[in-house]
Amino acid sequence: MKNICEWSNCKEDGKFKAPIERDNIRNFKLLCKTHIKLFNKSWNYFNGMSQYEIESFIKSDLTWHRPTQTFGSSDNFFSILWNNALSDKFKIFENDNTRHINISRKLCEKDKDAFRIMDLRFNDDWSIIQKKFKTLVKKFHPDKHSGSKKHENKLKKITLAYSHLKMIMMEK
Ligand SMILES: [Zn+2]
Repeated sequence: MKNICEWSNCKEDGKFKAPIERDNIRNFKLLCKTHIKLFNKSWNYFNGMSQYEIESFIKSDLTWHRPTQTFGSSDNFFSILWNNALSDKFKIFENDNTRHINISRKLCEKDKDAFRIMDLRFNDDWSIIQKKFKTLVKKFHPDKHSGSKKHENKLKKITLAYSHLKMIMMEK
């Protein structure tokens, strides 16, 4: 019997083991070659995030991508994401009914950090967060700073903060 890749909506053979940790229990899931690469690549960037968070981030943000786009080189993942943010892709969110949602629960330190990293107020809603993200991508995009690593790392941090906020908005 063949194993199917456990990435959502993927039908390829799941030949590669991706380590996951849930409730302190170590386990793995089976992924195809394309998705194990993506999984391994994102793993470093998402240090400190749970596997669930990483997956939701990748999945939700991959929905902006055209299927022809690949993640061939090491930093392609982030550059595709940023370029999409700069292009008109945010129009997708016009139909997004989570736009005006605020976080309802009490903020933890990680939540607050995410707001601080993006230079936002704690009660800013999702539509403001999206706008801010787009502004920050414009400001720190490595292409605008001759590929500066400093700006790139800053923008990666911002992207992770944004993805964290995105996830807690979706919680309710
Ligand atoms: Zn797959």
